[in-house]
Amino acid sequence: MTYLILLLFILALLFFWRSDRQQKAAGLPGGRVIYTDTRGWGEVEKPLFYPALALTGKPDYLIEKNGQIIPVEVKSGRAPEAPYDSHIYQLASYCLLVEKTYGKRPPYGIIHYENRDFAIDYTRELESALIELVADMRVDELKKDVPRSHEQPSRCKRCGFRNVCDQKLT
Ligand code: SF4
Repeated sequence: MTYLILLLFILALLFFWRSDRQQKAAGLPGGRVIYTDTRGWGEVEKPLFYPALALTGKPDYLIEKNGQIIPVEVKSGRAPEAPYDSHIYQLASYCLLVEKTYGKRPPYGIIHYENRDFAIDYTRELESALIELVADMRVDELKKDVPRSHEQPSRCKRCGFRNVCDQKLT
């Protein structure tokens, strides 16, 4: 379990660090605002795992709708103008894990902020960008130091890893 938590932590950290660079190349979907009924949301009991990419993650909820399974990622705080790239990549990884686990490709996933929900289309382009990012992460995991990919103190200020990050901007 400790190993799993550590792996999840490293994945989240690397998603956050690497997202800026990948976004430019991938042209990530910005998301569209939708209304969702939280009564249909089912909690996920254990992490999903895809061995071929050594990828693991646990969506906050799964929605079964018209024979499809839609992952939901819940974020604390009010919604930004558009979802952060790191959030989009995290959701994309859940879409991939859902497809590999249940054999059904989600057409989109949902990022739920306090005041707004965004649907993010799980396109082939987003999937390719995710797989490329995971491959880059594997390379980075072998390095001792992974450089920060931005110069935005505001981003570090709201980052959940600032207590353990030795590259935070203050
Ligand atoms: S504290 Fe700043 S540099 Fe460190 S992971 Fe968070 S956003 Fe990146």
